[in-house]
Formats: sequence, structure tokens, C-alpha cells
Amino acid sequence: MLKKTNNVIDIFVWLGVVVAAAYFGFLSYDPFASRMTVIALIWLAGYWTLRTHQAMKESAGERIEIETESREIKFQKERLEAFLELSHDGIIILDKDNNVLRINDSITAITGYTKSEVIGQQISNVFKCEKYQETGLSFGLAFLTDQKPDYYEEVTFTTKDGRPIDLGVHFGRAKKHEGHRGASLILIRDLTKIHAAESLEHDFVSMTSHQLFTPLSIIRGHISMLLDGDVGKMSEKQNYFLNQSLQATKRMVHLVSELLSISRLEERKITLNFTTIKINELIPSLIDEMMPLSAHKKIKMTYKKPSVSLPAISVDTEKISQVLQNLIDNAIKYTPNGGTVTVACEPRAHDVLISITDSGIGVPTGETAKLFQRFYRCANAVNVDSKGTGLGLYIARVIVERHNGKIWVESTEGKGSTFYIALPR
Ligand code: ADP
Repeated sequence: MLKKTNNVIDIFVWLGVVVAAAYFGFLSYDPFASRMTVIALIWLAGYWTLRTHQAMKESAGERIEIETESREIKFQKERLEAFLELSHDGIIILDKDNNVLRINDSITAITGYTKSEVIGQQISNVFKCEKYQETGLSFGLAFLTDQKPDYYEEVTFTTKDGRPIDLGVHFGRAKKHEGHRGASLILIRDLTKIHAAESLEHDFVSMTSHQLFTPLSIIRGHISMLLDGDVGKMSEKQNYFLNQSLQATKRMVHLVSELLSISRLEERKITLNFTTIKINELIPSLIDEMMPLSAHKKIKMTYKKPSVSLPAISVDTEKISQVLQNLIDNAIKYTPNGGTVTVACEPRAHDVLISITDSGIGVPTGETAKLFQRFYRCANAVNVDSKGTGLGLYIARVIVERHNGKIWVESTEGKGSTFYIALPR
């Protein structure tokens, strides 16, 4: 813009000078005016030379700038290409019409399809997926919204040579730009090996817990018989050591039976016995059972009755009682002497909400979701009870989820926790 204005000014200056020179210098025959005109022309010639030189310098500068920019773009493109190829996850880039723009070598390693077979093709024609016949591997793009710009799902995919493999598929879409729908990105990860390792671990846990349960139960039974004097009176010292052994064996039996019930629940070997009950009919007897434990720690345990009548819901009474017992037991265990534990339940639109609130040690920030994973224990809990297994809440989660319900916790470290269970109506 500035350059154009300068050129227009130049033209006007030149025109003015030529007209003035013609009139004063040559047409007026005045020697002084002629000399002045010659000086003006020389001055202007100098000015013009300077301007030309400056313009040349500017255009050389611009050329260098463009060259630097294009070198930078090329460098960034090469770097991006290197990242794409280095990734162990398969990467598919699609254009706005879902044609394959680019894939990396990992896609070929996972699916068997080469670049020449897929680039330029509609993704649904090449990457077929049993669950989503019409869209193929682009199924998740339909679930993307401005509020939820990525989506993840695990599906079974058939490779080029017909092998079924488990894939974790992640979808993302580049932001819309000047009214155009942006390109989409699909990341795929082969989960077959991870699933095989998980299943091996489950088989191992299931097998060892089965094998350990019977001999441990026999040892526990025999120690009890010795302590009961069934084979003669024990000395005080013998009694002491046998008691220690019995406690340790009981802990082992408890751990092994928790592991057993996990593998049975996960393998769905345990079928749930659903009956229709009102949850408030179940809670008072559970509280009564736990009362000796809370009384021992001078903890005030209360049941807050629902203010409105609860709907009857379909649950496996034994399993839900096991979950509630575990939560109340934890509340008592992780609350210092003299604290409070309150159990409450209330109806909601689509479920019945049960809550167990304590004034205990609480859960450190950022750890609340981890509690429901296998073997997870917070450091502050280990200080209170070093013998916990970290399996109770995991079992509770599996049982609640098999009821299509939800379990979660809200907590402040040092102040207390509330564990919630929502069971569908
Ligand atoms: P365990 O009590 O045997 O460790 P759980 O699976 O029942 O196993 O609990 C897992 C962890 O969750 C506990 O170790 C503790 O860190 C935390 N936790 C559970 N209940 C509470 C509670 N009421 N207050 C504070 N922390 C709790």
C-alpha cells in the first residue's frame, strides 16, 4: 500500500518537473531559469537513483524473508512427517469429505493396508469395521461436537489378511477455518497384546486364589482346633504363637477370598439373584451388625431415614449388603475415635441414592477416582490400618456396575468423606 502511494507521488513529481522545466527553462529563454531547471533536473535524477536503489534493496530483503519463511515451513513439514512416522500408534488424516489424505507406517503394520491402497480412498471403503458397517473406521466422527472435540471407543477390526484385532480408536477434528470444515484425525492403537496380558493376569489370579483357598482354610481350621484344646492343653507361650498364626492365616484367607470373588464377578461366574426390595428395609439391620465396631471406637453412628417413601428396586440383596457393609466398615475404620458416621438414602428421578458420610481422615486431592481400582490404598489410610488389601472398593464398584448403578466419593482430606451409591429404579 505504502509502495503504491510512493509510486503515485513519484509520477506527480516527475510530471510537475517536466512541465515546469519545459515552461521556465526552455520556453521562457531566461538563462537564470534555465540554470535552475538544469539543477532541479540533476537533483531529481539523484533522487530517482536513490529511490531505485532503495526499492531494489527492499525487494532483495523481501526475497530473503520469503526464502527464510519457506525454509521454516519446509523444516516444520519434515519434522511433522518424522513425528507421524515415529509414532507407534496408527495415524489416519482425512480431508473434509472423509477421503484418506495421509497414513503413517504404523497403520500398515497394524492393519496390513499400504499407503498406495488407501490414500485418496473413502475411509469407509478401505477400513471396514464390523460394528459400524457404513462408516468404517470413521464412525467416531459423528460423535464429535464443539463441546466434545474428541471421542474414544474400542472396537474389533478385521485386518487385510482377515485377522480380528482389538483396536482403541481416538477421533479428533481440526477446528473449522473460515467456514470450511477442517480435516479429521484418527489415532488407532492395537490392544490385542494388552488384552492378552490382562487375561493372563486374570487367569493367574483366579488359578492361584483357587489353589490357595483350600489349604489355607485347612490350616486355619487346624490352628483353631489346637487353640480350642482339641489335642490337649496348650501352654501360654504355645497359645500366643498359635493366636498370631491364626490372625495371619485369617488375613490370608480374607485376601484370597476377595481375589476369588473378583475373578468370579469379572468372569460373570456369579449370577446375581435379583429381588425387589426397598433399600431402607436393609440398612437398619446392617447398622446394628456394625454397631459393636463403632461403639468400640466411640463413634456415633446414625441412620437418617428418608423423608419420603422409597420406591422398591431390583437388587441382589446379599451383594448390595456386602457393598454397604464394606463402606460402613471403611467409614468406621478410617474415622478417629469419637467421630461420626451417618448412613442415609433418598429417592431421585431415576435412581435411589445411598450415602455413607464420615468425619474421618478423608481422601487426598486427586486420588478419589483411583480408590475404585484394584489394590489402591492412600498413604494416609496405610498409616491408620496397615493390613488393608485395597480390594473392597474395587469389588463394590464391580457389584454396583453389575446393577447398572454408580459409585463415587466426595471427600476432603482431614475432614471426612461421603461415599455415594446410585441404584437405578
Ligand atoms: P482397604 O480398606 O482394605 O484398604 P478398600 O478397597 O475398601 O480397601 O479401600 C481402598 C482405599 O480407599 C483405602 O485404603 C483408603 O485409602 C480409601 N478409603 C476407603 N474408604 C475410606 C474412608 N471412609 N475414608 C478415607 N479413605 C477411605
